[in-house]
Amino acid sequence: MQSLIGGYQQFFKKYFESDNNLYQELQHKQSPHTLFLACCDSRVDPVLMVNAQPGDLFVVRNVANYVPPCNKEDNNSESLAAIELAVNYLPIKHIIILGHQDCAGVKLLATDKLEKNSPTVWREQQKQLKNNIDKNYTKETASEFEKINVNNACENLLTYCFVKDKIKNKTLSVTGWYFHLDSGKMETYNPEFKTFSFL
Ligand SMILES: [Zn+2]
Repeated sequence: MQSLIGGYQQFFKKYFESDNNLYQELQHKQSPHTLFLACCDSRVDPVLMVNAQPGDLFVVRNVANYVPPCNKEDNNSESLAAIELAVNYLPIKHIIILGHQDCAGVKLLATDKLEKNSPTVWREQQKQLKNNIDKNYTKETASEFEKINVNNACENLLTYCFVKDKIKNKTLSVTGWYFHLDSGKMETYNPEFKTFSFL
């Protein structure tokens, strides 16, 4: 706990006791340009990774960076509420789905280790993952599962009219990123060719 308090004190000094007046500008309004949808994993922090400042990014984090597809009968998802707020009420220009190597969430989904009463949303994510890969989950195939999970989230985003319309008008882009924990390298998903390439 002491390290958290010390960290907060450094943050306070940097942004409120120095000449940095960023929070004077931000105190009444935020104008983030990018929505990051990332995994909860403690090693994968979008703000740190793109060297962002307060106010730059709107960040949604959930287990295994999931976006449920549009389902008019059951749109009961916290992540969806955040995506809708970001796209419809904030000046978001880019959405980046950030997946990563050694994702414990993807591993759970791929190896059928979910608890019997796990949330429905997890079951949906699992079903979609398994529909799109016909392999067993191993150390060697893990990244394929993780990348397909990123693709699925990108494609699910496009099932929402409010996202699709903005992409059509060229006021919004949707991209998948995949972070390699071992090398620090980042791959980006090209939806046109359905392939990943290094940034
Ligand atoms: Zn993860």
